[in-house]
Amino acid sequence: MKLNLELARKYSRPGPRYTSYPTAPQFGEAVGAEDYLNELSNPQVPVTPEISLYFHLPFCRSLCYFCACNVIITHRREPIADYLQLLKKEIDLVARHMADGRKVGQLHWGGGTPTYLTADEIKDLMGHIRSRFAFSADAEVSVEIDPRELSADQAEALAEAGFNRASCGLQDFNGEVQKAVNRLQSYEQTEGVLELLRDNGIEHVNLDLIYGLPHQTVESFARTLEQVLTLHPSRLAVYNYAYVPWLKKNQTMIDEAWLPGPEVKLEMFAHIITALTTTGNMTFIGMDHFARHDDELATALERGALHRNFQGYSTRAGLDLYALGITSIGQTRNYYVQNHKQISRYRQSVEAGQLPTERGIRLTDEDHLRRRVIQDIMCRFELNLPDLEQAFNIDFRDHFAPELKALAPFEADDLLVDEGDRLLVTEQGRLFIRNIAMTFDAYLPKNGGGQAVATSDTPQYSKTV
Ligand code: SF4
Repeated sequence: MKLNLELARKYSRPGPRYTSYPTAPQFGEAVGAEDYLNELSNPQVPVTPEISLYFHLPFCRSLCYFCACNVIITHRREPIADYLQLLKKEIDLVARHMADGRKVGQLHWGGGTPTYLTADEIKDLMGHIRSRFAFSADAEVSVEIDPRELSADQAEALAEAGFNRASCGLQDFNGEVQKAVNRLQSYEQTEGVLELLRDNGIEHVNLDLIYGLPHQTVESFARTLEQVLTLHPSRLAVYNYAYVPWLKKNQTMIDEAWLPGPEVKLEMFAHIITALTTTGNMTFIGMDHFARHDDELATALERGALHRNFQGYSTRAGLDLYALGITSIGQTRNYYVQNHKQISRYRQSVEAGQLPTERGIRLTDEDHLRRRVIQDIMCRFELNLPDLEQAFNIDFRDHFAPELKALAPFEADDLLVDEGDRLLVTEQGRLFIRNIAMTFDAYLPKNGGGQAVATSDTPQYSKTV
């Protein structure tokens, strides 16, 4: 697969990643704990028999200057132990209100650095989770790992806790890049951690890279990719770095002059696509995700069984997602809800026996429809008009007349084909999937032609290409 650079220049603009629709900037304080509680415990609300659980573990030993996550930097163990106690209380609260018989089909620990927890803390937290929730036999149980923070004891503890997939942060192997972002991590260290995980039976290991970091060049990143492929990851995520120092203070440590320009970034992305889908022998999943041909994600893509949630692409079909810990975002049938960002407010709620929901959004019928459309574009790369018309009782061409008009440039550029009953995203179109999805986002400002445009509200998003 090759990236057409001319089209990339034309369509490169900030845009959402659509891990949710409506996206997080639309969440507000009108939705709170009571709404969530009602949704959670109301027997009238349809629920999925399997659920997904997310746990946010925000602690890190040191700050990477590029980081855009919600993190707490500490060298002390007490705040971590204290947070884990609060998290257990929240687990009890959520479990208490959940209907019986639902099983965990997917679980993820994200951060921060989940492996900043000691081996005992890992076992204790997972023991508590398993005492409150039943797991499906084939549950996907995954964890984010910082290879600089993983000992043999911790790897054993993760295996004992039942983790079967790990995502390792890596970003770039180049020493100059690593120094500029305050994250030194050698090839040998990363290789050792992958071995440790595999020796403990955690076979599925993903690696996360970032392009667009300080001092990166097409050649230097190509070298990193070569090294990465020798580690045989199951999946690779290669994120486009979003430089937003006005939102993330730590990014002010990075001088803008050190960053590769937009043209270099496009060339890097073109190289990434070609290298990974040819010599790397990986399947391009969508946006910035690649998977080995035999990986579940690649086979799900082939079967049209791919989904998208706050963890990105997923093979588990639209499970209700209950997210625990500060800042985490959950998704139920009718709501997105986000927990308090401030640990003091999170503590206050949890200790008072209340769900620590800070804000969220209730989906309207129109949101449900557009969420399904955007999900189908992002995951199936097609819209089946009769299916959508039947599911939502609409005349698609009538309902989305302005959007269909706004899609004309994508059709003219061979990124989308209108087959009458189906709108099909072409192979080249998959590289511009966010742009196509943005056309159906009712909350984004549009130009006279109906195309989504960047505004002062959108720089928080990374560029679509
Ligand atoms: S990139 Fe990862 S390890 Fe670095 S500060 Fe952010 S969450 Fe912590």
